[in-house]
Amino acid sequence: MLLIGSHVSFTSKEQLVGSVKETVSYGANCFMFYTGAPQNTKRCKIDYDLTVEARNLLYENNIDLKNIIIHAPYIINLANNEKKENYRFAINFLKEEIKRAEMFGIEKLVLHPGSFVNLDLETGINNVINALNEVIKPNQTVKICLEVMAGKGSEICFDINHIKKIIDGVNHSEKLGVCLDTCHLNDAGYDMTKFDEFLDEFGKLIGIDKIWCVHVNDSKNPVSSHKDRHENIGYGTIGFDALINIIYNKRLSDVPKILETPYVSFNGKQRLFPPYKFEIDMIKNKKFNKNLYEDVIDYYKS
Ligand code: FE
Ligand code: FE
Ligand code: ZN
Repeated sequence: MLLIGSHVSFTSKEQLVGSVKETVSYGANCFMFYTGAPQNTKRCKIDYDLTVEARNLLYENNIDLKNIIIHAPYIINLANNEKKENYRFAINFLKEEIKRAEMFGIEKLVLHPGSFVNLDLETGINNVINALNEVIKPNQTVKICLEVMAGKGSEICFDINHIKKIIDGVNHSEKLGVCLDTCHLNDAGYDMTKFDEFLDEFGKLIGIDKIWCVHVNDSKNPVSSHKDRHENIGYGTIGFDALINIIYNKRLSDVPKILETPYVSFNGKQRLFPPYKFEIDMIKNKKFNKNLYEDVIDYYKS
């Protein structure tokens, strides 16, 4: 079965109930969310009643809890330990995030490995290994998915060999897997029009069974640009056919595919509308919609 969804919002008021409703409105059967704002670490208390209500909604809509993903906030950086208190804060925040995921019964947590900043790549990788060895407990139900990055600035893990090193260095590596992001891979230098060759290489180095999440995004920039600017499906340099080929790849059929494409702006930039309902339609029909922006605006403007 095609597992397709998007990044959705999570508000302190509606919590997971709101996220599920949004998912259903897009015709999706999986989703990803941040437990608060992605760019900060303020987090609300998880409400038990809302979580129960959300689980009922999931059941009614045939959405499996195991296909829901939490994304850790991207400001936590495990690769840099120049400021001990920041490194410590990141480790502790991740421990808390795992506890929150467990409260929801969610099994997958996507994590950006981080940036080495003024250190070097090797040190950055070792900092991530040491942090994960402190964070990951053998009895936890949550699995961490390291996201492949675009290699912007001093980001690590833009090369799958970096990820291999981290997995090899972590004691409980059975709790550690990978999140592919097609925009990041493209920008990192992997040609997404030759995805099967990439999967062969990934399979030999790490193992296809370690791919636990795929972020499906087109890219605004060419291969190897190291930029990380997402584009709507079929509107970027990867293109519709290559993305369809990835989404329907038989080797990844039980892996949730999550859209993180940009919102459509309307009226200058006064209003922004989510493109996901219409991108998901395109994906289900395997047919490119050249009127995506117009359709999105028509649907949401009133
Ligand atoms: Fe990400
Ligand atoms: Fe991503
Ligand atoms: Zn990105």
